[in-house]
Amino acid sequence: MATRVVIVGGDAAGMSAASQAKRRRPELEIVAFEQGPYISYSA
Ligand SMILES: Cc1cc2nc3c(=O)[nH]c(=O)nc-3n(C[C@H](O)[C@H](O)[C@H](O)COP(=O)(O)OP(=O)(O)OC[C@H]3O[C@@H](n4cnc5c(N)ncnc54)[C@H](O)[C@@H]3O)c2cc1C
Repeated sequence: MATRVVIVGGDAAGMSAASQAKRRRPELEIVAFEQGPYISYSA
């Protein structure tokens, strides 16, 4: 079973953390929650 990383917040910090985690550990399952309608797309 894959290790799941849950990120709360989809702006700069959240999406940077998600992309860094996935680059370093591609096997991780990343789930991000964002309360608003938009996420950062340049992290
Ligand atoms: C007026 C203003 C102008 C700025 N101008 C610039 C600029 O020109 N250039 C620049 O580089 N920086 C600028 N900044 C700074 C930049 O906006 C912040 O450094 C950056 O947005 C911080 O990102 P963050 O992900 O840490 O936090 P935030 O942007 O605060 O993101 C947090 C995210 O978490 C979400 N969230 C919070 N609680 C929950 C929850 N319980 N469940 C789900 N989602 C949740 C929020 O909806 C939000 O999307 C500015 C900031 C302000 C206030």
